[in-house]
Amino acid sequence: MKTLIRPGILVWKPSAEPLANTPILIDDGVVAAIGDDAEHAVDGSTATIDCPEQTLAPGLIDCHVHLVWSGRGDDLQGRNPLYAAIGMPRAAMAAQVITNMQAALASGVTTVRDCGGIVEVILPIAQAVRSGEVVGPRILSSGAPITTTGGHCWFLENEAEGVDLVRQAVRRMHKAGADFIKVMATGGATLGSNPRAAQFSQSELDAIAADAHRLALPVSGHAHGTEGIERVVAAGFDTIEHCSWQRLEDGVDDYRPSVVERIIEQRIFVCKTIAGFQRWPLEELEAAGQAHDAWQSYATFRDMVAAGVPIVAGTDAGITDTNFVHLNRTMETMVGLGGMTPASVLASATETAAEALRLEAEVGSLEVGKRADCILLHGNPLEDVRALREPEMVMCDGVIVARGGGVRVAGAAVDPASMAVR
Ligand SMILES: [Zn+2]
Repeated sequence: MKTLIRPGILVWKPSAEPLANTPILIDDGVVAAIGDDAEHAVDGSTATIDCPEQTLAPGLIDCHVHLVWSGRGDDLQGRNPLYAAIGMPRAAMAAQVITNMQAALASGVTTVRDCGGIVEVILPIAQAVRSGEVVGPRILSSGAPITTTGGHCWFLENEAEGVDLVRQAVRRMHKAGADFIKVMATGGATLGSNPRAAQFSQSELDAIAADAHRLALPVSGHAHGTEGIERVVAAGFDTIEHCSWQRLEDGVDDYRPSVVERIIEQRIFVCKTIAGFQRWPLEELEAAGQAHDAWQSYATFRDMVAAGVPIVAGTDAGITDTNFVHLNRTMETMVGLGGMTPASVLASATETAAEALRLEAEVGSLEVGKRADCILLHGNPLEDVRALREPEMVMCDGVIVARGGGVRVAGAAVDPASMAVR
């Protein structure tokens, strides 16, 4: 079925000039024509959406989520969502994944990169979305992240160490159907792990990167400490998650311009995840300016932005107090505390993100031949990132999957309020 959309503004690609009063034709899941060609291709079966007051933009990409976790605060037993998932029945976990991904979709997120879950839950669901059995955003999944014994996120069940075993862990994820390889290069929020210290030796990381690349899989390194950041850069990883520049001894800012130069030269994408407890509405950030409590904790992020590091947007949704519907809030914080322009932030969640995920031939901009993933907005996000707050309509693969916040699942409208975690 064909759909013609006539928006007042078409943000076809955030790094380019938007187009005024330019129609776009969607046919069979892809962008079939833009401009006069689109009008000329209209026939009797074409549905039209006239929206002269609104802006059409590419669907958003959240480059860092964990769909198997709830994103809630501590539960009644005082456990955070990561620990609450230990021993959780797989069916309950699968239901949680579906709830989470559909909430993300209704908020305008048409692609997610899942940076770590339980293999037998996340990979079959990603496949079910791909084959159209269940409504959701397209999912790229790492399966389970490779970590050390008892290391960060050991409970996702992919512990390995030593060159041979980490290589085998890569091959296991490849065999299971992972789209990329995720490595916990430093510790993290898991009790007993050390975020400031590297978990793997240089030779282990070199082996992981070499084997992932042999299998044509990108490799992503979770790294808070500078030691781990330096090692994943030396190993030739493709993306760095968090990239917190923590000094080994005491965790204070330890930004290294020489390493940043290599990140830029090697075109490594950095996803500084901005989770629920680290993000604020833009009004509040603008009012406080440099006096905002969190201003100093974003210093190294601002340094990376100023240096020209390719930045992609990610929420870490699923971790404590981090729901799946507020990528927009993360993006507002990237403007207010990260010093990014609205256009560069929009690019970080569309065209740059698509490049980082190696999906640039399919998504990230609205061009003829690309998948029809788009969102209809009340304002222009190139001028004010807050326009992303409440998309009027979300289209994924040419199908309208959400309107006014509600997901359409097999004809039933679902109230997104019932899906939002908080
Ligand atoms: Zn994460």
